Amino acid sequence: MAADPKTVERIQRLREEINYHNYRYYTLDSPVISDAQYDRLMQELRELESRYPELVTPDSPTQRVGAPPAEGFAEVEHGLPMLSLANAFNGDELLAWHRRVINLLERASFPMTCELKIDGLAVNLLYQDGVLVQGATRGDGYRGEEITNNLRTIKSIPLRLIKQAPSLMEVRGEVYMPRDSFEALNRDRAARGEPTFANPRNSAAGSVRQLDPAITASRKLDIFVYGIGRVEGNSTPSTQWETLQWLADLGFKANPHSRLCQSTQEVEDFYSEFLEKHEQLKHGTDGIVVKVNDLRLWDVLGVVGREPRYAVAYKWPARQATTQLRKIGINVGRTGSLNPYAILEPVQVGGVTIKQATLHNEDYIRAKDIRIGDWVVVERAGEVIPQIVAPVPGRRTGAECPFVFPSQCPVCGGAVVRPPGDAMHRCTNISCPAQLFERIKHFVAVMEIEGLGEQWCRTLLESGLVKDLADLYLLKKEDLVRLERMGDKLATRILAQIEVSKTRPLSRLLFALGIFHVGAEIAQLLAAHFQSMDRFMAAGEADLTAIPGIGPKIAQSVVAFFADPPNRALLQKLKSVGVRIQAEAPAVAAASPLSGKVFCFTGTLASLSRSEAEARVKNLGGSTTDSVTRKTDFLVTGSDAGATKTQAARRLGITLLDEAQLLALLSDAG
Ligand code: NAD
Repeated sequence: MAADPKTVERIQRLREEINYHNYRYYTLDSPVISDAQYDRLMQELRELESRYPELVTPDSPTQRVGAPPAEGFAEVEHGLPMLSLANAFNGDELLAWHRRVINLLERASFPMTCELKIDGLAVNLLYQDGVLVQGATRGDGYRGEEITNNLRTIKSIPLRLIKQAPSLMEVRGEVYMPRDSFEALNRDRAARGEPTFANPRNSAAGSVRQLDPAITASRKLDIFVYGIGRVEGNSTPSTQWETLQWLADLGFKANPHSRLCQSTQEVEDFYSEFLEKHEQLKHGTDGIVVKVNDLRLWDVLGVVGREPRYAVAYKWPARQATTQLRKIGINVGRTGSLNPYAILEPVQVGGVTIKQATLHNEDYIRAKDIRIGDWVVVERAGEVIPQIVAPVPGRRTGAECPFVFPSQCPVCGGAVVRPPGDAMHRCTNISCPAQLFERIKHFVAVMEIEGLGEQWCRTLLESGLVKDLADLYLLKKEDLVRLERMGDKLATRILAQIEVSKTRPLSRLLFALGIFHVGAEIAQLLAAHFQSMDRFMAAGEADLTAIPGIGPKIAQSVVAFFADPPNRALLQKLKSVGVRIQAEAPAVAAASPLSGKVFCFTGTLASLSRSEAEARVKNLGGSTTDSVTRKTDFLVTGSDAGATKTQAARRLGITLLDEAQLLALLSDAG
């Protein structure tokens, strides 16, 4: 069936759009949309072209790799074309690729090598009689840019091979910029007012494609090689697995994380393992590359368009997207900090809709030059709050405006100051309702008053029943049941929980007070040292800084807190309502049931932050890890728990704990 005019037009539009993004990405090293958004455009074009093959043209982006060499560089013709890779975005697409290869080869299975897909820029290194004579970018796959002198500055590229090599040999690899160099480079550029790079891949490409090799040399690039092109002379290995080893023997740097797999299950295992670990590697990766191991089969399988059938890139789920920043909102925290956040045009990142992202503080907004109305790159990494990576200056229209921090608290209208040396702006009104609300929420969570959720805290505050933390202990059943939606049963339960909370350890009370700089761990230290609230309140700065682990910042904050008459009155009131203010016998970490136990966390906990939960585990003799391994004892799953960690834990038979179970365990051990 012939395509209707609307489809023809859509194909044309997609090609124009993709060509524009290719130009921004490959020629200018400055993309304006995220990779996932680009991949979606390509996928749509591919689908339309496969439905209407008669509309495929040789210059369609589906048939061409990258972009032709840019002006200013000499052109180099590759001995064998440098291709792109087909993508698999999930396990089903990997299986579909595997099935296609099985059908084409007419065999039930085949070994595969799994390698990390290094996020950098493909280069071709030409060696004659073991000496590097030419280096080039991939360009459009047939002709690249000659960048020999630039590549010579990368120390891990051998200028002369250390073993007997073929008389002529093309080696293919990926030049990349290690994460720490990327961050340092961007910091440097931001400080000089120069535009920052969107990601390590673009910065590596921008650094290699320089007319002045001295600039490349200053950029701390590195390389991993993964294959060969044209070869003359000696014979070469017959499998991909042996090729990697052979290249390493010749003096090249091959990535150590590769595996020979016999089944798609083994491929999935490799993928899952590195999905967990890849963010801890020193370099960026965007997935794994799965290749048919037997090189003789590569010719049999051939190439479709710009993608060989013998390999597939199995990508990590998307983490970034571009969207528009509509407004900047402000939350007021329990210490009065004004926390700016971005209100975004909703956008999908890895299957989750992102509407807001943290902006941390004024310095962060300034350093990144984020303006209201900007197009921005947002990133969602694991369970962390979405971040704004960078604005996209290329999409500015002139209508964007810089953000000016308010001089009055958006909640209570109190004066806002930024104390010297503090990154945060703070509301100076101690009775600011926003601060009080956050303080009550924090107190309730730390003292483990179950049943008093965020909404009830707000209601208690708005109804006037609670005006300070100690008022919680003065609540009566007849007051509670008068509140809308509060039944007799719930009121009884809440009051029982409030009663129980009076006996929490002293360290818990110290943490629950919300003294600036006194987190869970510091509170443990202070409680262990002073053993009573009265002694703690009487301590001067010198007494406090004499305790190992307590610095002047914490000491000043504690002294200032108790110098404030309302705070002293609050403590008096807490004491009079019967809240425990003495420590019991100090806990012996070695005797704790958590001693030696390894905890890993995924998802968000409702009653305490990740760092608070980790601190409490550590204080009770346990330890924490970022990823699930055989050594993990417990995986704590909050809301939005990551599927990968959860699946890994189930596979390894690790005990899963929900938030209530964790709190019970901590409470028993504490
Ligand atoms: P690709 O990067 O997806 O895959 C092919 C490349 O993978 C190879 O050329 C090679 O350089 C590299 N690679 C890394 N490790 C490898 C290994 N171990 N074995 C083999 N190859 C390895 O393909 P591509 O055609 O260069 O680019 C497509 C990618 O670039 C997509 O991810 C796309 O989203 C992105 N892109 C983004 C934009 C944008 O505007 N955001 C524009 C164009 C392209």
